[in-house]
Amino acid sequence: MQRVAGRQRVPVRSRGLEPTVIARADHSISRADISDNALKVLYRLNKAGYKAFLVGGGVRDLLLGLKPKDFDICTDATPEQVYALFRNCRLVGRRFRLAHILFGRDVVEVATFRGHHAPEERDGADDEDEAPPSKASKRHESGMILRDNVYGSIEEDAERRDFTVNALYYNIADFSVWEFADGLSDLQARRLRLIGDPAVRYREDPVRMLRAVRFSTKLDMTLSKEAAAPISQLAPLLGQIPPARLFEEFQKLFMAGHAVGNYRMLRQFGLFQQLFPLLNPVLTPKGDSVDERFIEAAFANTDARVKNDQRITPAFLFAALLWPVLQRRIRELTSQGGLAFGDALNVASSDLLDDQQRSVALPRRFGAIVREIWLMQYRLPKRSGARAAKLLIDPRFRAAYDFLLLRGLVEGGDTAALAEWWTDYQQTPPEQREQLAAEATDAPAPASRKPRRRRGGKRSNTKRSGE
Ligand code: ATP
Ligand code: MG
Repeated sequence: MQRVAGRQRVPVRSRGLEPTVIARADHSISRADISDNALKVLYRLNKAGYKAFLVGGGVRDLLLGLKPKDFDICTDATPEQVYALFRNCRLVGRRFRLAHILFGRDVVEVATFRGHHAPEERDGADDEDEAPPSKASKRHESGMILRDNVYGSIEEDAERRDFTVNALYYNIADFSVWEFADGLSDLQARRLRLIGDPAVRYREDPVRMLRAVRFSTKLDMTLSKEAAAPISQLAPLLGQIPPARLFEEFQKLFMAGHAVGNYRMLRQFGLFQQLFPLLNPVLTPKGDSVDERFIEAAFANTDARVKNDQRITPAFLFAALLWPVLQRRIRELTSQGGLAFGDALNVASSDLLDDQQRSVALPRRFGAIVREIWLMQYRLPKRSGARAAKLLIDPRFRAAYDFLLLRGLVEGGDTAALAEWWTDYQQTPPEQREQLAAEATDAPAPASRKPRRRRGGKRSNTKRSGE
């Protein structure tokens, strides 16, 4: 039976949700599908007298017959007690304290059951004379949870989780599955529902809006009407999330094989616009301009690479996403600002990457690669003499060439011809490449087509294509 959304409203001091226990014989999870390391941790906790459950994506994905990305464990042991139990344990996180059990490169995450926050723990401007704020938990006046280290029972823990399908627990003590909030029937019906009042839950943690999109596409589930309704209005709350956390979400959204689906759904809800506000001047209501087709092509290309187990880097995606804006900035700086092309490229690249850090922050080491991919776009047209051979051995050639292929696909014309030339060049035996390079006519770099002519400067006699 489906629940009516209004009945799920969570009282502030709720004792949590009631579990339904599904015995080993009545569900499909087998220990053979759980990683050895996760099992080791579960058994050790259990043997020491603690409760130990597999929870979240691991249980959900196993029940769906998918291969879980990782196995998360929860327990009634505090992080310190977990620490005492495992030699290979590290305590991490301030906002959300966790134990990491390390097995070489494999990390098993162990969380202590989360409890409820007291209402007076809001971090409002004028509650100075109320009870002193607890060290364990903290809220922003908007309702956002800033620190979350109040421990509780499994019933409370379930209520604190985001979606009903994520509140399924596998008990190592008797191999049963504990269901809260109808998670199992939602899973069977492929229905993605939030636990509690969606608007409240999104305000507590706006990242849940991104998770709603991600799980819809990844699990091929339908987001419930109630969970979908408040998103467009609450999307700007993503502005409160630290840019480094949004980068983690960016990777999960766009580097795990469902980038195109996520991009489209995020745009529908106005969430993409929050992640990449720099792109707002480029986005059109229909979403099918040349620039937007290029962005989609980059996401489709990434999805294909993930499927084929090819290497991907966030630098490539950032380079693609910001490329249409880069073009505009360069044009402004050269025409209105009077800068020479090289300087304009430099200034525009730095400005864009700096501005982007305010929403989704790309780690610095990737920023350098983005700049190189961009710079190479203006070098690849210049192939004559020894230049082509030099470009080919540039460490960034591969990424820059893939980028050019994508541009060619969308722009056609000279760009497509150039991409094709580079394909031929690489397929030509090395001893014949010199000949190809000798025949190449160096086209001007796309954005350097300035209307102004320098006095006394040489005019290229290469055919120019219109803007
Ligand atoms: P996957 O790992 O496949 O991306 P997951 O559901 O395991 O999906 P994680 O981010 O690993 O996602 O989180 C593990 C579990 O922790 C979730 O299933 C959910 O129960 C809970 N959880 C994670 N993030 C939140 C959040 N922002 N709000 C509430 N619960 C959350
Ligand atoms: Mg997980």
